[in-house]
Amino acid sequence: MRVAVLGSTGSIGLNTLDVLERHRDRYEVFALAARSNVARLREQCLQHSPRFAVVVDDAAAALLASQLRSAGASTEVLSGERALTEIAAHSEVDVIMAAIVGAAGLASSLAAARAGKRILLANKEALVMSGPLFMQAVREGGATLIPVDSEHNAIFQCMGGGSAGGVSRVLLTASGGPFLRTAAADLRNVTPDQACAHPRWVMGRKISVDSATLMNKGLELIEACLLFSLPARQVDVVVHPQSIVHSLVEYIDGSMLAQLGNPDMRTPIAHALGWPERLSSGVESLDILRAARLDFEAPDLERFPALALARSAAEAGGTTPAVLNAANEVAVGAFLEGRCRFPDIAALIETVLARSPAMPARCVEDILAADGWARREAQTAIAGPAGVHA
Ligand code: NAD
Ligand code: MG
Repeated sequence: MRVAVLGSTGSIGLNTLDVLERHRDRYEVFALAARSNVARLREQCLQHSPRFAVVVDDAAAALLASQLRSAGASTEVLSGERALTEIAAHSEVDVIMAAIVGAAGLASSLAAARAGKRILLANKEALVMSGPLFMQAVREGGATLIPVDSEHNAIFQCMGGGSAGGVSRVLLTASGGPFLRTAAADLRNVTPDQACAHPRWVMGRKISVDSATLMNKGLELIEACLLFSLPARQVDVVVHPQSIVHSLVEYIDGSMLAQLGNPDMRTPIAHALGWPERLSSGVESLDILRAARLDFEAPDLERFPALALARSAAEAGGTTPAVLNAANEVAVGAFLEGRCRFPDIAALIETVLARSPAMPARCVEDILAADGWARREAQTAIAGPAGVHA
């Protein structure tokens, strides 16, 4: 099978290439794509010899092309956003790993859905913002959508392939992030590096901040509703600091199924690649005697208001999840650049949501308009005196 790894230089991209490398007999790396990290892409191209490398940034693409030429590599370098969607829908590609971070991954994920590809979905933001439209594109395009997000992959496994028949409730587990025990008053002074120092998982900076605010779990709640056709009231969040149980599914007969494993993204990646078969992933086997204690507790919605904001966006539907996601991306970017404080992230999203008109999402243009509007509102709120309290 031919695989395109979109977002190959990121945390999920690296883990994906690690798994693919173990199964060279089954998978061919057809294309790699990233925004601008030439050094890492060069190394990946020399190791995996893909037919294409897509670099969104034009100058970075030119640099990579010249470096690969000098190294005698045959990979063809493409540049620009259009090239991303072309690769995602390329007739010779079978599998797309959608691992671009944020709304930037929407166009390529949608293109892969419409072209009927097997999509391994890590890029939750694209699904959250486009919601039922994305799921419709998957159905109409005849695509196969397999969740890579560890919680959703766990649920998919517990449901034996994603059907929610007889399910009464899904429980998404959350590690609680680095500030699980931090007092509310101290959250004002936490730094981006502290927010990105996740206790259990090594991830990109954006999702690390989302894990610290619990917005990651909020986005995942919306993701679960869409992937498994469940109303928000059937999706609960439970804090599980050990990150061994990756999620649980409860059935109407009282059974509760869970998927356990070491916190290593190569497990859900290998599962999504191989499903319905199983592939080795390089992940160390879970020593349950050492991990003997598994704790569960309710999330603190007062210290982590992002979760409630996401739940209300899930219930509102239409363009509201796109507004939530866009405001979050802008707020997280501002926090990482030192332009606002940690509690301002949720405050900012709440401000933008309060100003947002409830609109139906009839087409992708409606989504993109809501996304653009929310980004402008969020930027204005960050810059304005009454906006956030940095
Ligand atoms: P990352 O920041 O490590 O990597 C992001 C990748 O996206 C990079 O390859 C980067 O070049 C590419 N990219 C960024 N902007 C782009 C643009 N405008 N156009 C094209 N490519 C662009 O992020 P990550 O941690 O690997 O996360 C990727 C996605 O997977 C996110 O949506 C995240 O929520 C999801 N996810 C990640 C993890 C994890 O463990 N890292 C777990 C679950 C879900
Ligand atoms: Mg997750």
